[in-house]
Amino acid sequence: MGLLRVNSMIELNAKAKLPTMAGLFDIYTFSSDDRKDHAVLVRGDVMNRQDIPVRIHSECLTGDVLGSRRCDCRDQLIRSLVYLGRVEAGMLIYLRQEGRGIGLLNKIKAYSLQDEGYDTVEANLMLGLPVDKRDYSFAVDVLKYFHISTIKLMTNNPAKMDFLTHNGITISERIPIKSEPTPYDEFYLTTKKVRMGHQL
Ligand SMILES: [Zn+2]
Repeated sequence: MGLLRVNSMIELNAKAKLPTMAGLFDIYTFSSDDRKDHAVLVRGDVMNRQDIPVRIHSECLTGDVLGSRRCDCRDQLIRSLVYLGRVEAGMLIYLRQEGRGIGLLNKIKAYSLQDEGYDTVEANLMLGLPVDKRDYSFAVDVLKYFHISTIKLMTNNPAKMDFLTHNGITISERIPIKSEPTPYDEFYLTTKKVRMGHQL
């Protein structure tokens, strides 16, 4: 992942109301250079509004949808939605970059290696894949679309904060997302903390 985003143009495609278990949101889709169907969940009126809580969440089919305990993605997603459902204005940017950007197939291959005892970083390296291929350019474009330059970022990931800061977004506060480790994701969470610098 480079620190500076290359693309800059996004266009609003469609917008609709989306009632959720956490409250009422508007869902937006945009057409962007990377041609992925990212989703933006908006709580309240965010146009020109500064210092709102924002969660930038990368898709995890196994966790978000299927409730896998190999990671804490679903926990983080639900906690973010519940948090946002309680505030007047906020945003969840849902990026379609499965498995830290390597895709579902490669993620399952990496899981298979982890079943043999390798950690998540070693597994990716053995497959010749980058440890983290995630790109947050779209999120920067979305914030610019809404004329938002200062946010409270809901994250445990310093790399994400660096990317935003380098692209003109001020982070006034980091809202940590706490999740309880289970026997299945404890090793994964420790790896993220020790080897990828996550603040857990
Ligand atoms: Zn996950």
